Amino acid sequence: MVRQEWRLWRFDDGASPRDHGVPGQTYQTIRGLDFCNDARHVIERPGSVELQLGVRVSGLRAVHSDACGSRVAVETNAGPLVARHVIDTRPQSGPALLFQCFAGAEVNHGGLLAHPHDVAGLMTRMRADEHGFAFTYVLPFTATTALVEFTRFSRRALSPSQLAQERDAELCALGLGMSRVVREEHGVLPMGSYGDPAAVPAGVVIAGNGGGAIRPSTGYAFMRIQRWALDCASRLARGAAPVGHPRDGVVQRQLDRIFLQVLRETPERTPEYFMALASRVSPERLLRFLTDRATPLDMAALVASLPIVPFLKQLPASGADVAADSSQSGAARSHPVTAARLRVSSAAHAR
Ligand SMILES: Cc1cc2nc3c(=O)[nH]c(=O)nc-3n(C[C@H](O)[C@H](O)[C@H](O)COP(=O)(O)OP(=O)(O)OC[C@H]3O[C@@H](n4cnc5c(N)ncnc54)[C@H](O)[C@@H]3O)c2cc1C
Repeated sequence: MVRQEWRLWRFDDGASPRDHGVPGQTYQTIRGLDFCNDARHVIERPGSVELQLGVRVSGLRAVHSDACGSRVAVETNAGPLVARHVIDTRPQSGPALLFQCFAGAEVNHGGLLAHPHDVAGLMTRMRADEHGFAFTYVLPFTATTALVEFTRFSRRALSPSQLAQERDAELCALGLGMSRVVREEHGVLPMGSYGDPAAVPAGVVIAGNGGGAIRPSTGYAFMRIQRWALDCASRLARGAAPVGHPRDGVVQRQLDRIFLQVLRETPERTPEYFMALASRVSPERLLRFLTDRATPLDMAALVASLPIVPFLKQLPASGADVAADSSQSGAARSHPVTAARLRVSSAAHAR
């Protein structure tokens, strides 16, 4: 299912690019359509699961009857359903410390893109302007085609039109203004959601982005959802109740919170922080951190690589002053056909 993989991935502030690679590990991308078709193939096996596409859920409520015990009533535009367990992966809105907002275009640039086609550009052209921190995510597919994605960390969820404008300006800045656009995508992902979770009826589990799948400090969710789905499915197969996403460990939660708050308070220094991580932390350690496998030594190396003063200032847990912006991660997402990209992961993890 993997469309393409790269042995190297790049962090670049425009001055001193850092290419990371770890033996045996690759950065991979999967097409959303391939992922969707693969899942449907499994779902549609005879006798397994019935898939109803195009049905909208409008509400969930707990119900009880003497004959059946506790159940969940699901209101849909195709009529009501009653279930013992419901796993709800609809997008949820809520405030967040930052929003990762991006708009990308897969372009045929005819060879004009000045980026090596054997290196995935995770964070290139990192910079800060009056609107905050921004970078460009580049996946070079061939010598003449690439996904170029303008990305901002913003205190508020940016509109699709603003993001598209910034993406087009970025394409022009890269000399790709005349490229043929093959496909577009955009998204707004909450980083560090907070606030009171909505009341969940008994028998309902919230999962996916709305259920805490997104890693606060990176916005990565895909691999975490895969791990959760395997665990949840094996529980259901054993006759047990479904579960939501596991909470991250306390050290990771605190590091993610502090890191996000520093990015929020000092966007002008954010390129410096990411370049410090890329140049002072080994690729192996940084990869383990990004993929939720960091050891205590990895965490210590990360902390030691960063400037101390801005991070010390964020040590006390706070969040009270956070703007109450709402997340809307799905507004224009053409799911399930949007490209689901698998950020830094190993080949073994991908399957
Ligand atoms: C363009 C884009 C690129 C991304 N790239 C990456 C990446 O490279 N790596 C990464 O880790 N994460 C990435 N993400 C984050 C991404 O959000 C997750 O990887 C993942 O797709 C989220 O899964 P989910 O199941 O929570 O939500 P979704 O995949 O959005 O699924 C939610 C589903 O609920 C359905 N739905 C919504 N409302 C209703 C309703 N009322 N009734 C019934 N159904 C409803 C929707 O149609 C949709 O099918 C990306 C996101 C976007 C938008």
